[in-house]
Amino acid sequence: MHTQAPTALQAAQTRALRTGTPHAASGKFRLTKTALTSFLLGLYFITPWLRWTRAGESAQAIIVDIPASRFYLFGMEFWPPDLPLLLGLLIFSAATLFFVTAYFGRVWCGFTCPQTVWTDLFFGVDRRIDQRFGRDSALGQAIKSALHMLIAVLTAFTFTGYFIDITHLGGQLATGIAPAAAYVSLGVLTFTTYVFAAHTRENICLHMCPWPRFQSALLDSETLVVTYQSWRGDPRARARVPLRPELLDIGSEGPPAAQSYLAGSDAYRGDCVDCGKCVSSCPTRIDIRDGLQLGCIGCGLCIDACNTVMDRLDRPHGLIKLGTEMPAAPSVATAKRTRPRILRLKPMMFASVMLVSGSAMAVALANRSNVDASLEHQRQPPFVKMSDGSIRNDYALRFTHRGDDIASVAVTVEGLPGAAVRLSTGDEPTPAFICNRRSMSERVMVTVPMHAAPKGRVPVTVVLTERATNAPLARLETYFWGPGGAQ
Ligand code: SF4
Ligand code: SF4
Repeated sequence: MHTQAPTALQAAQTRALRTGTPHAASGKFRLTKTALTSFLLGLYFITPWLRWTRAGESAQAIIVDIPASRFYLFGMEFWPPDLPLLLGLLIFSAATLFFVTAYFGRVWCGFTCPQTVWTDLFFGVDRRIDQRFGRDSALGQAIKSALHMLIAVLTAFTFTGYFIDITHLGGQLATGIAPAAAYVSLGVLTFTTYVFAAHTRENICLHMCPWPRFQSALLDSETLVVTYQSWRGDPRARARVPLRPELLDIGSEGPPAAQSYLAGSDAYRGDCVDCGKCVSSCPTRIDIRDGLQLGCIGCGLCIDACNTVMDRLDRPHGLIKLGTEMPAAPSVATAKRTRPRILRLKPMMFASVMLVSGSAMAVALANRSNVDASLEHQRQPPFVKMSDGSIRNDYALRFTHRGDDIASVAVTVEGLPGAAVRLSTGDEPTPAFICNRRSMSERVMVTVPMHAAPKGRVPVTVVLTERATNAPLARLETYFWGPGGAQ
């Protein structure tokens, strides 16, 4: 039987709802959350300002160049043909998220989701303004709104800076010469950040995000989730009610000797003094004592809040803790000390997907070439007989290279003795084309004297090398047609 003592709890809930800002908790979860929030916000806001030398000039180290269909990551350059790598990254990221969720519940939601990170930032701003000016101060409210808007604009500006060089973006926006998409991005991101993080806040997690519904399929009975230890906390009553005698000698790790608190009476209480601190510190305002709920984002702030109360009462920590889910109202006898197994089917399945997709990406990245080249034999006609009797075949070469370190490309042929190569724009005597664009087409003409011409079709290899260093760039398998033989 639970003693109903709603006054403190209701007061805490009412206060939290009125201010819209949960109470600050202090403890290891709060510290972890603050460290992660600071790190992720720093990463987001600083990254576009990092510079890298590209083509001899200072350029933004990480940028998506939409008009050129390029993504630059420091010294690496990704083109549309690299999209399978992006797919691999998405699969790897999803498997990692599922893996972590299967072991630790909703840590993504509680610590690293952008909605959580920005909401935490706005909560922090609100708390400081409330402390400085008081909760009902009109000036405080005005300052809050101004700061919310400033953060929203900076967030939107930084986001846009991932697509347009951020060092020029401010000037372009101010003088009206930025692309229309930059103004749209700035407007949409400012609006969504302001509304989602400054006003809607936890309601996004509670009512709009599909992830909580989806993630329940990823949990199993041994997943670590934030749980209220009802075997220890109930019945709840004010601190002046005497504590159940059998709780006096417990540690924070497990129940005392088997006996049911339900056999007790209202004369005794459990460790929960119904102060409501766990609820008023909760960013989604749920009461974790009602059991695991969709609204719990696993941030652990209620654990910190409750541990602080336990300290004050000189009681062990862990009335709310990270553990496997407990029955709603277990007896002391059923609240066994259980340790989740490491090797479990569901997380191991996700780990294997991580391993496969991660390895595939690593291999693809290691073997990724900066050069794409293709050669197409021109079949109309398959060969040309020249006035001196020699036989010529024509090919269309398409050459693409990432980076800026290739100046000119030499073209030779293997597998056809006596063959001479000429290019439509190349120079002599060593056939080579100047690499003045990153993507170019070239007509390749291969000629052999009549006496050396093959009969019908023979396989040949066109070899591309960097002329300055003789470094191999590509080997293109094709064929050469001579007179005679089936065509
Ligand atoms: S903070 Fe702890 S003691 Fe206070 S209501 Fe929550 S569970 Fe009970
Ligand atoms: S119940 Fe606890 S862990 Fe869950 S969202 Fe609220 S404060 Fe975070």
